[in-house]
Amino acid sequence: MSKPSSGPAIERRGLVLILSSPSGAGKTTLTRNMIEKAELGLRLSISVTTRQRRPSEIDGVHYHFIEKDQFLFMRDRGDLIEWAEVHGNFYGTPRRPVEEALAAGQDMVFDIDWQGTQQIVDRMRADVVTCFILPPSMAELKARLDRRAEDAEDVIAKRLQNARDEIARWPLYDYVLINDDLGRAFNELVAILTAERLKRERRIGLQAFVDKLLSEEKGRSPR
Ligand code: 5GP
Repeated sequence: MSKPSSGPAIERRGLVLILSSPSGAGKTTLTRNMIEKAELGLRLSISVTTRQRRPSEIDGVHYHFIEKDQFLFMRDRGDLIEWAEVHGNFYGTPRRPVEEALAAGQDMVFDIDWQGTQQIVDRMRADVVTCFILPPSMAELKARLDRRAEDAEDVIAKRLQNARDEIARWPLYDYVLINDDLGRAFNELVAILTAERLKRERRIGLQAFVDKLLSEEKGRSPR
């Protein structure tokens, strides 16, 4: 259960960093950048989805792409920690990899919507940190969706329409970032993660560390 990034010899459970935003606010890029920076020691939770795979996506890397029957089977058997219907498709977080990672002190990143966030917060509040990412403007959001050019026009239109409802959920979150500069937003996320990892109540080995620290001084005569 130990994590080198928590400081010396202090054990703690892993935490879940949830990132949510409307489509096109840069969340997927930020999530990738966090995962790729190895020294952050984060693992991505790979969701299951019934959505069509985009050309740039790889099954098992970006999502596990599954049929609706299989999704409903997994959901009804309790294999998903949370699930939601987003833009007409089903998405869910497989339970087992998350539970195993957290028990081993491994921190995870979830790229999920506000409905899933609420379910996770209700079930595992102490282990969860939630961040909402806002675009700098609606015009920029649309431009980013157009630039991505991986979705059909009607899909983009639907996502823009849904963006307003999603943006309205920002008060549910612990932290809110405005992504007008990817580098700055990334640094802000790292700062959040660093501070959350240092929180006293997460560090279950802290008392033992302090006891040991104080015992070093016992028996020594004052000068
Ligand atoms: P996209 O289709 O653009 O990959 O994702 C659409 C939305 O679904 C995004 O807001 C994304 O965060 C959300 N999403 C992806 N995976 C999950 C999941 O496992 N659970 C929930 N609740 N939302 C998800």
